[in-house]
Amino acid sequence: MRTTTRVAVIGGGVVGCSVLYHLTKLGWSDVMLIERSELTSGSTWHAAGGFHTLNGDTNMAALQGYTIKLYEELEEITGMSCGLHHVGGVTLADNQERFDMLLAERAKHRYMGLETEIVGPEEIKKIAPVTNTDGILGALYDPLDGHLDPSGTTHAYAKAARMGGASIETHCKVEETNQRPDGTWDVVTDKGTIHAEHIVNAAGLWAREVGAMAGIYLPLHPMEHQYIVTDDIADIKAMPAEHPHVMDPAGESYLRQEGRGLCIGFYEQPCRPWAVDGTPWDFGHELLPNDYDKIEDSIAFAYKRFPVLETAGIKSVIHGPFTFAPDGNPLVGPVPGLRNYWSACGVMAGFSQGGGVGLMLAQWMIEGETERNTFAMDIARFGQGVITPGYTLPKVIENYQKRFSVAYPNEELPAARPFRTTPMYDIFSNMGAVWGQQYGLEVANYFARTEGEPTYETPSFRRSDAFEATAREVKAVRSSVGINEVQNFGKYNVTGPNARAWLDRIMAGRIPKAGRLSLTPMLSPKGRLIGDFTVSCLGEEEFQLTASYGSQAFHTRWFGQNMQDGVAYENISDRRTGFQIAGPKARDILAACTRTDISDMKFMDVRRMCVGMADCIVQRVSYTGDLGFEIYCDAIAQRQLWNTLWAAGEPHGMTPFGMRTMMSLRLDKFFGSWMSEFSPDYTAAETGMDRFISFKKNVEFIGRAAAEAERATPPVRQLCAFEVDAVDADVVAYEPIWIDGTVQGFCTSGGYSHYAGKSIAQALIPRKLARNELEVEIEILGKMCKARLITEPLFDADGARMRG
Ligand SMILES: Cc1cc2nc3c(=O)[nH]c(=O)nc-3n(C[C@H](O)[C@H](O)[C@H](O)COP(=O)(O)OP(=O)(O)OC[C@H]3O[C@@H](n4cnc5c(N)ncnc54)[C@H](O)[C@@H]3O)c2cc1C
Repeated sequence: MRTTTRVAVIGGGVVGCSVLYHLTKLGWSDVMLIERSELTSGSTWHAAGGFHTLNGDTNMAALQGYTIKLYEELEEITGMSCGLHHVGGVTLADNQERFDMLLAERAKHRYMGLETEIVGPEEIKKIAPVTNTDGILGALYDPLDGHLDPSGTTHAYAKAARMGGASIETHCKVEETNQRPDGTWDVVTDKGTIHAEHIVNAAGLWAREVGAMAGIYLPLHPMEHQYIVTDDIADIKAMPAEHPHVMDPAGESYLRQEGRGLCIGFYEQPCRPWAVDGTPWDFGHELLPNDYDKIEDSIAFAYKRFPVLETAGIKSVIHGPFTFAPDGNPLVGPVPGLRNYWSACGVMAGFSQGGGVGLMLAQWMIEGETERNTFAMDIARFGQGVITPGYTLPKVIENYQKRFSVAYPNEELPAARPFRTTPMYDIFSNMGAVWGQQYGLEVANYFARTEGEPTYETPSFRRSDAFEATAREVKAVRSSVGINEVQNFGKYNVTGPNARAWLDRIMAGRIPKAGRLSLTPMLSPKGRLIGDFTVSCLGEEEFQLTASYGSQAFHTRWFGQNMQDGVAYENISDRRTGFQIAGPKARDILAACTRTDISDMKFMDVRRMCVGMADCIVQRVSYTGDLGFEIYCDAIAQRQLWNTLWAAGEPHGMTPFGMRTMMSLRLDKFFGSWMSEFSPDYTAAETGMDRFISFKKNVEFIGRAAAEAERATPPVRQLCAFEVDAVDADVVAYEPIWIDGTVQGFCTSGGYSHYAGKSIAQALIPRKLARNELEVEIEILGKMCKARLITEPLFDADGARMRG
């Protein structure tokens, strides 16, 4: 056995083997995989082997497309068969909401180059004749759907990796992982110790246990899952070609041909988590006992949808465990806070996603960043020390149960809530707050404050029942003053003699002088947007940074990777909170609450002052685009600060507002939002963030060369705003933009501007076409809506109110 390696991949399931192959493909050959038994000895060997592209997250869908296309490449390289059956598949819709979701997915696929299509019941009957289409409105047909041989495919990855120089050690169990002071690892196995520069945890069912060896908690949990294979069925035997896949969300089942019979699996509601207290080490190539009780209702439903099943005999039942993260997407990337330790686990659909996971991880390790935004699978999306096993378990159960449910853009999932709350939770609840959750934290979406108003926002693709409340809150902000919490900003203290120099290097924008703040993009070396920050200079050696709350671990991981002497950063997101007040009366309200003279406080000023009894940092800036102030205090003083501001504001009509209102207000000014307009998928020049880059500063900030290259040769895409002739459904994201009959761009976000009474979209389109009043069409839920490019903000176009 080798005793040194650049990378030790722990786990020889489909994911570990894919990671190993991609590392060699991208140029690292000094890599090895360690497997405690034979390859495929976790979930992999008993998988049904199905693959498909459908995923609510666009980047995940694209990576699933990559995975599926990769199999032919693997077969070619290795001469081995992956047992591919490219039979295509339909996903059925039995109600309008499900059909809306498929229409939205189809629309997204247009610019992704995926050739799915919407088919009606007659066509479904032709494509998938065993389906009873009674009550079916239509389906999404995907020619890429299919299935393969799980074991053959895993071995093909392994062979391709070996051909690239990798070695594989089977029957070798990792028992400890110990980090040396230089950041490298001693991987202690039952066959001896391997010294590795990097570790990849791809231990699947045992990923929790392997993570614990390095002192980390990985938020995933195994669930039991069952599928049935029938005896031969005459109708199937008689078919001229293989029957395609049928996903039936109403029945929570997936079905495909297996031999001359059928194979059907279920995501049943009475599901069961497995190995709650840890995966036993002696669990091997084995199955769980059959459990028909659990899937009784699902089978009864399946008999109606696929009547041939009712008389079919059962050849075998496969019942095994596999792992899920709380949102069902993989956990990939550098584990925050731990050097040279990478995660490739929580992959619940290894044959749809394994290739994409391998590619992204290999790019990350070798090139320092991935070619596309991987946040939907980034382990950092669950933070560091935020998520607990107590949270993960109910979320994983919820995710399993909702595997086939419609995923609505405004949906707030109920499991494991409330979890993290601020001191305002009960006060706002008593005022009618309807809560959402971000990164485990409760955040008010809107306030139901009138008699009979819904206190639950019904999930919908169309305008929701938060519409009236949002309109009311928007009106209050624009005409008087609104208040909401700033708990959901990520906040960091940066201090030390080199604080300014460090910020100058990691941020592309100007770092402000004392008493001022600035907005700045943070760029990756390749010039991608990895942050949009507000930097406030509280003193020459003290800065407050604010950015997205949900990206705390993503951002602190980057800070940690790019640290230098003489500077310290601290994540104070939950310790420092407060409020923002915005609207024409905001200054008067603040002035009434502090003895500090704020009459000369200019736009983008920052000052320390006492507000009521609380020591606060007050910034004159607001994402609402209005006259506004962000007022930060210690969490412990937040209720007192609230009492002060509310007592001063209520007589003047001060109104609490939530995130729905915030998102509507920002559209009035075409402000972008993090992970919509601003994400690692885009560059500063594409999104207009280049206006905040300081090319004048004499610093080699990260991403400078890439940003300068874009300045010399502007990118082909440009972010623009559109006024949309929408009726009852606004743009959410990724709807295609049609210009002269072809898809030439896509929306990044959108919504309804209650201030202007208009539906607004933001979209990336070819720069050469971007001109005021350009007429386009936007496909919203399968309907073409006319839209016009607009360049003048809907509110305060000259900034007089915001700056005045
Ligand atoms: C019944 C069923 C049907 C499924 N059907 C499908 C499907 O149709 N399509 C699909 O895409 N997915 C399907 N899946 C899910 C799929 O099986 C998983 O997504 C996939 O197998 C995960 O692979 P993995 O490599 O991450 O983990 P695993 O397959 O669990 O592999 C982990 C490996 O790590 C090894 N290991 C663990 N600890 C150590 C250690 N300490 N030292 C050395 N080695 C170690 C294990 O022995 C194991 O081989 C199904 C799952 C089940 C249960």
